Amino acid sequence: AMMVQLRDVKKNYDRDRVATSAEYRNALVNINLEVKKGEFVFITGPSGSGKSTLLKLLYGEEVPTSGEIVVDECNVTALRGNRLSLLRRRIGIVFQDYKLIPQRTVAENITVVLQVQGYTRKEIQRRLEPTLKLVGLLTKAACFPSQLSGGEQQRVSIARAIVSTPPLILADEPTGNLDPDNSWQIIQIFRKLNTFGATVIVTTHDEQLVRGCNHRVVQMLDGKIL
Ligand code: ADP
Ligand code: ADP
Repeated sequence: AMMVQLRDVKKNYDRDRVATSAEYRNALVNINLEVKKGEFVFITGPSGSGKSTLLKLLYGEEVPTSGEIVVDECNVTALRGNRLSLLRRRIGIVFQDYKLIPQRTVAENITVVLQVQGYTRKEIQRRLEPTLKLVGLLTKAACFPSQLSGGEQQRVSIARAIVSTPPLILADEPTGNLDPDNSWQIIQIFRKLNTFGATVIVTTHDEQLVRGCNHRVVQMLDGKIL
């Protein structure tokens, strides 16, 4: 079964400029991509090649100019409002810059989304500890983000993304601010989640990281898949 399907997807951020400027190119052109449930996929390519745009289309942050996008049996292109929010709850998203709340502890950062989604206090407690354990932060639950290293902060953001056990995990350049050791740790966590059954899509321009793993690689250049 498929987790992600893109058919002839095009993304043009600026419809006006395309008419007036010869050098303007689309962020994505004729993208066709299928990712099976349970797959681990790296998306690589230089800065500006369209990796981030591709992920944004998958979680509905941007809408495609044309083409069709299906994520976990939902036609994302047609989803609006509440139905889009419901799909997003089934996607764990990790960013390069962590996006943690500085005034909240590690535990609070991880559980705030569950609270908003109406999980009971008991269910939140039940989920917190195994998630902290999975990312190796059991002893840091009461710390604030500023007390953690970059690698630890990224592990908090992963914990926040996975605490509701989403079937799909999207990570946009998650190791972009980290040294090789920490980067490798982060990738190992994603690989573990993948062995638990999650479908994982990670963008990176770190060739070494990709070569260290035996996963499918989708290479992008100038808005196209090579
Ligand atoms: P990558 O993630 O590979 O660095 P992006 O998807 O961020 O690539 O960018 C692909 C292209 O789309 C680039 O030319 C970039 O300048 C352009 N782009 C990205 N976001 C926007 C935006 N919000 N508005 C206009 N152009 C954008
Ligand atoms: P256990 O068997 O100890 O309950 P699992 O091995 O099933 O735990 O999973 C460990 C943790 O992995 C879960 O508590 C959860 O926080 C996290 N997790 C996140 N996303 C997923 C996923 N898609 N599938 C499985 N586990 C996930």
